[in-house]
Amino acid sequence: MDWPATPVEYWSDFRPSFCPWRECAEHLRRGAGYRFHKHASFSTHRRKRVPRFLCLTCKTTFSRQTFSLTYYRKRPELLRQVAAGIVGGSALRQIARTLECSPTTVSRVSAHLGRHAILLHAESLKAMHGKLGEPVVLDHFETFEFTQDYPFGVATAVGSRSWFVYGLDPAPHGRTGRRSPAQQKRLRSRPKRQTRGRYAGSTRRVLDLLLKLTPLDEPLAIRADAHPDYARTIQRHPKHARIRLRGFPNPARGPKGTPRSPDAVERDWAMFPVDLLHKILRHSLAHHRRETIAFPRRLNAAMERLCLTAIWRNFVKARSERRPRSPTPATLLGLADTAWPWKRVLSRRLFFDRTDLPDPWPLLYRRGWETPVLVANATHSSVHNF
Ligand SMILES: [Zn+2]
Repeated sequence: MDWPATPVEYWSDFRPSFCPWRECAEHLRRGAGYRFHKHASFSTHRRKRVPRFLCLTCKTTFSRQTFSLTYYRKRPELLRQVAAGIVGGSALRQIARTLECSPTTVSRVSAHLGRHAILLHAESLKAMHGKLGEPVVLDHFETFEFTQDYPFGVATAVGSRSWFVYGLDPAPHGRTGRRSPAQQKRLRSRPKRQTRGRYAGSTRRVLDLLLKLTPLDEPLAIRADAHPDYARTIQRHPKHARIRLRGFPNPARGPKGTPRSPDAVERDWAMFPVDLLHKILRHSLAHHRRETIAFPRRLNAAMERLCLTAIWRNFVKARSERRPRSPTPATLLGLADTAWPWKRVLSRRLFFDRTDLPDPWPLLYRRGWETPVLVANATHSSVHNF
């Protein structure tokens, strides 16, 4: 995967290869031959000389900064610190206290990082098209938005050998478990949410994504637990003949400390990569801990942060932190030559229109997935920094 080690803002020889403006015909250019002129430069208290360019097609100007992730950021240094804080188990206000900035600044930076993570994840999957060479372990991670009356699962597809997180997809569903009469009454008064197919919908979308990664002459091998929606969704999928499902039902387990049955050992071995990811998410993200007041308020924001965590898991965090020089999942797949520091993850800006996002990520990118109990569901519709 072609990704710079040095952030764009430090390139002295920067030359644009396409126009950054979405309306311009040259915005989607892939090959060489983009026509521009140098158009002087400017200085700020942070940077000595930022070169400007003029697009010869749409006649608008832009600078090197337009291609940097710190474009439009008043405190660019916060990006790296907030990213590290989010995956380091801090809630947004705790990060704000540490960085001496406003909590709303941290929320905005978190959303900006989430959007970048969505595009970067899509770019890494594009580099994997037709190259998937391992069974994928699939399970749903359970959490909720705003209130426990609004639970949702997140389909998590993890490589069985590389532990690479291939797919994340939300599945809002009805509240389950025992409820008191008062809780039942409150639940009935809640406005209905869009579920987009619940577990089956999110499973189908993840299968579509994984089938694109699978070589045409090979089957897609899936490992999952015995949830009936997995087998049912695969049976109904138009390309079901290409999908091989191995189900591992959750066996009965005795009280804590009793030895595991052979079935339990086999299930735990087969599902280990996804079980480990879910443990990491609960341990590393403040808003997914049990009994926390930092719980997610909006599904959109939770998915942004999960995507950022997937990037961290795939490119930044070594598979084992106990072993020195342990590779990252992306290194094992040949997507990266080494573990990336946050600086490298954030080294350039990606553009929404130039990235092929699978369903439902364009909606999540715009924050268009509504949480109906909220008074306002602000969407992302920035003109210049989209
Ligand atoms: Zn242009």
